[in-house]
Amino acid sequence: MAFNAEAIRAEFPILARQVNGKPLIYLDSAASAQKPRAVIDAMVHAMEHSYSNVHRGLHTLANETTEAYEKARQSAADFIHADLAEIVFTKGGTEAINLVASGIGASLKAGDEILLTEMEHHANIVPWHFLRERQGVVLKFIPVLDDGQLDMAAIPDLLSAKTRVVALTHMSNVLGTVNPVAEIIAMAHDAGALVLLDGCQAVVHQPIDVKALDVDFYVFSGHKLYGPTGIGILYGKAERLAALRPYQGGGEMIASVALDEISYADPPHRFEAGTPPILEAIGLGAAIDWFVKLDRAAIADHEHKLYARVREGLAGANWLKVIGEAPGKGAILSFTIDGAHAHDVAQILDRYGVAVRAGTHCAEPLMRRFGVTSSARASFALYNTEGEADAFVDALNRTQAFFA
Ligand code: PMP
Repeated sequence: MAFNAEAIRAEFPILARQVNGKPLIYLDSAASAQKPRAVIDAMVHAMEHSYSNVHRGLHTLANETTEAYEKARQSAADFIHADLAEIVFTKGGTEAINLVASGIGASLKAGDEILLTEMEHHANIVPWHFLRERQGVVLKFIPVLDDGQLDMAAIPDLLSAKTRVVALTHMSNVLGTVNPVAEIIAMAHDAGALVLLDGCQAVVHQPIDVKALDVDFYVFSGHKLYGPTGIGILYGKAERLAALRPYQGGGEMIASVALDEISYADPPHRFEAGTPPILEAIGLGAAIDWFVKLDRAAIADHEHKLYARVREGLAGANWLKVIGEAPGKGAILSFTIDGAHAHDVAQILDRYGVAVRAGTHCAEPLMRRFGVTSSARASFALYNTEGEADAFVDALNRTQAFFA
């Protein structure tokens, strides 16, 4: 079925605006996606009609808000084929990974190993470094090959009886590489290790079934999934959440508190201390409900076609270096231009109304792996059009001419 990007665009009010006198061409969705009217309306509706704290009151608004909050949890659970109690609301992908690292850290000792990859976002490196710094846990990294794929052949030697966790991204935010996670999960489980997948990019571009994957933890954020900031999801297998040390303490996460002892609420509430991001959860629920009604295979096809169109348009550009072109990769183009700093490239593109990311993309080890200090990144989403792809190619040619 054909997917109509033009029709979808009309649902995103921000896409009608101009930047520097030019129509906005938003190619920075991998950093954060724009929000459709359905999400904006759901959050405004909650604030205007039915807002209160959750779980606390016995009054009508408290009950309505709690219902909306838990309905959003159900939407997130259905979205990745999880059970309701396996879905923890966090403030983002970063907090979800910190929660797991901190919780698992309680059971790790010096010499235990965590296996990551060279292509991780800092959100999936730094929380594990905390365990290295504080507890002597050893970090190991699966290397990345020149084309942006993981070096699968290296994994058997990196896994051992000491490996306690394998944590990796499902899809790279820099290279667009989609990792063979089913294979890696099987290898990790054979070695007795738990697996955490960082799905912040992947959930936007492919259906996820955590049960079929048999993954222990799966993490994603709301703001890249056309939802609001300030909200993320941690999926954990029920038995894994039950074994995890609580991350933060406070109201709502306890069963009872006395002066000399406490007992915890059951998961997922055990991991949601304090007043949660209520409006943000409702917004994420609305984003998911909106998103699942779309033809996702057609969207993926559309995004891949945009990427291919841009690559074709830039085929003769000998001044362009693309970082990572693994087979089956997602629609993320990371590149450098000879003689130009990525920040300058992004600033000049902005003059043409084109929004791209530039910098290290919170992936310094990966930048180092490819021998660059930064790159520019154009990421394509469901609302981008072929016309925009062509305008981007044109703007990039003009940008290069500026530096030549
Ligand atoms: N992992 C990946 C792969 C990401 O792209 C990002 C966001 N840039 C994160 C983690 C962090 O997620 P959040 O912004 O929700 O904290």
